Amino acid sequence: MSDVTERLNSVRVPELDEILGEVLPVLDNGFVRLIDYMGCDDSIVQAARVSYGKGTKTISDDRGLIRYLLRHRHTTPFEMCEVKLHVRVPMDIWRQWIRHRTANVNEYSTRYSIAIDTARTTQPGEWRLQSDINKQGSEGGVELETGQQLTRRETETQALMKEVYEERIDLGVAREQARKDLPLSTYTEAYWKIDLHNLLHFLALRMDEKAQLEIREYAKTIGNSIVKKWVPLAWEAFMDYRFGAMMLSSDEIEILSLINSGQIEKANEILLKTGFTSEDGAGVKPTLEGRELALKLERLGLEIPWEADNS
Ligand SMILES: Cc1cc2nc3c(=O)[nH]c(=O)nc-3n(C[C@H](O)[C@H](O)[C@H](O)COP(=O)(O)OP(=O)(O)OC[C@H]3O[C@@H](n4cnc5c(N)ncnc54)[C@H](O)[C@@H]3O)c2cc1C
Repeated sequence: MSDVTERLNSVRVPELDEILGEVLPVLDNGFVRLIDYMGCDDSIVQAARVSYGKGTKTISDDRGLIRYLLRHRHTTPFEMCEVKLHVRVPMDIWRQWIRHRTANVNEYSTRYSIAIDTARTTQPGEWRLQSDINKQGSEGGVELETGQQLTRRETETQALMKEVYEERIDLGVAREQARKDLPLSTYTEAYWKIDLHNLLHFLALRMDEKAQLEIREYAKTIGNSIVKKWVPLAWEAFMDYRFGAMMLSSDEIEILSLINSGQIEKANEILLKTGFTSEDGAGVKPTLEGRELALKLERLGLEIPWEADNS
């Protein structure tokens, strides 16, 4: 039973209090700012222990418990911690961000107020080429001379759109209509409140290299500059068991064990049968799933069966 006569204070994390309200810059004009937070590692432990009525024990027990909870996806104790951020994000990136439905959001209204007078600009060396492999991704950069041309055109476009917007406002057009041709590079601002469980889910998806570089910058700032200080034990467990971990399907485990025991030919048969590779006149090629498996095998220092010399 808990001691109900004891007066409890809300928890503070001194390292996090140091950055409370501070603007953490992201991209050229964006930021993340910690407005408020509730809970800390202890709150996760406390919530988990409520279920069987025991008080906090030692720090090493706490670390073990948090790691156990995260490893086994016991999610509700992580929902006891919350964070409120003030963010400024370009509209195209905000479109991706706002898909995370588990946050509470209040966004700056360009119906009510004049649009934020700043747009994400791209330096000549920052233009990325379309990836051939990943239809949603980029790979490498454009030549510097081309980049200079693209940046010049971007500056002209943004200046024209701003001029048209301001002209409409000056002519008395309603703000809700005047904004319709503003570019997606225009920054928006929002208050964004989310619990730790859902924040870690957001970070797992948006710090990943498959996420667009720009949203990755925001996710990394939230992760490394806020969450790491706020809940160091949960952050460590998240990096170990979620972000840095790899998922292996039952087919992949079978293939791994065949590679490990030197049965490359048999592994190749299963890879073909289960769709990790495909075969045409030109030979055997990995599918998307096969390419993803190759990255896992590389990480594990294992041979990639379809590249093995079977002669
Ligand atoms: C690399 C990448 C590429 C993407 N590409 C596209 C794309 O091409 N097109 C596109 O439309 N989207 C795309 N998305 C967005 C993606 O499909 C998700 O909408 C987004 O990542 C939010 O994830 P979520 O729903 O898990 O998160 P949240 O909305 O934060 O939800 C967290 C979890 O809560 C649960 N949940 C929340 N709401 C509900 C509900 N109503 N019903 C049931 N369960 C719920 C789910 O378990 C969910 O995983 C992409 C995302 C990433 C990371």
